Amino acid sequence: MSRLYRNGEVFEEAEFGKIRLKQWQLFVDKDHFKDALRDFCIQEGFALVVNKADNRRYTAECADERCNWRVHAALLRDGQTWAIKKLRKGHTCDLNLVNNPMCNCEWAANKLLEDIRGNTDIKGKALNALLWERYGLKMCRSTIYRMKGIAMKIIQGGHDESYTSLPQYCELLKGSNPGSMAFCCWTNVPGPERSLQFSSIFISFAAQFKGLISGCRGLVGVDGCHLKGNYGGILLSVVSLDGNNEIFPVAVAVVDYENKTSWSWFFHHLKKILTATGRGDWTIMSDRQKGVDPSLDSV
Ligand SMILES: [Zn+2]
Repeated sequence: MSRLYRNGEVFEEAEFGKIRLKQWQLFVDKDHFKDALRDFCIQEGFALVVNKADNRRYTAECADERCNWRVHAALLRDGQTWAIKKLRKGHTCDLNLVNNPMCNCEWAANKLLEDIRGNTDIKGKALNALLWERYGLKMCRSTIYRMKGIAMKIIQGGHDESYTSLPQYCELLKGSNPGSMAFCCWTNVPGPERSLQFSSIFISFAAQFKGLISGCRGLVGVDGCHLKGNYGGILLSVVSLDGNNEIFPVAVAVVDYENKTSWSWFFHHLKKILTATGRGDWTIMSDRQKGVDPSLDSV
């Protein structure tokens, strides 16, 4: 790169506080230039107004109208490398933006990624303290939680990815924890892609079954509740009462709707658990909602 452009100098990554921009600095591509420029603006405490930005040119100036600072960068002849062609230095503004609009959610999420990975329960206040300590910045409360959401998505993968892993999870669970029950159902989505869509999952751990046989009364309660989040659905659960009269979880399931079909599917699996206990005198308690009674009768 530097052989191609003799008067150029490749931009070297520097730690925050030591970033310098110069005329004829070279960048691997446009994103590289824009990332470096954003870091520099935040370091110096000013914001930008972009005058022109397309695939070949980028011109921006200090957002303060009284200020003269200006940068112009362009794509070089190799069609890849970007260079700062002109840089008018010397701010005549105050340079003390604490709520700098250059600090957006994506930028902050990437800068604080390792802190959030290390402690996913970290509070907005602590994240703001880190931003202040390292970058002299503050973000407003709602933005900082949106930023954390973006970081969590990078760390944990999106909900889509988690659902995709469920069949594998069921197999791993049964293999590594013998005696556990795990069933996952998928339906075909009509269309040329013939893709599969999650419909339901039922899970009961081996320890729950053991506890049900050895220390619970002959009573189970079933109920459903709505799930919040990206995909909604209903969480169905079975609990029993242990020797201390405390609630003992037996199994959980996630289904798309609360209706006769989903309750029948759920009772079908529950029946296997209750039959396996060897007792015949189980009492089942429910709120008799939406399909519980008919499906219980049929199963
Ligand atoms: Zn300025």
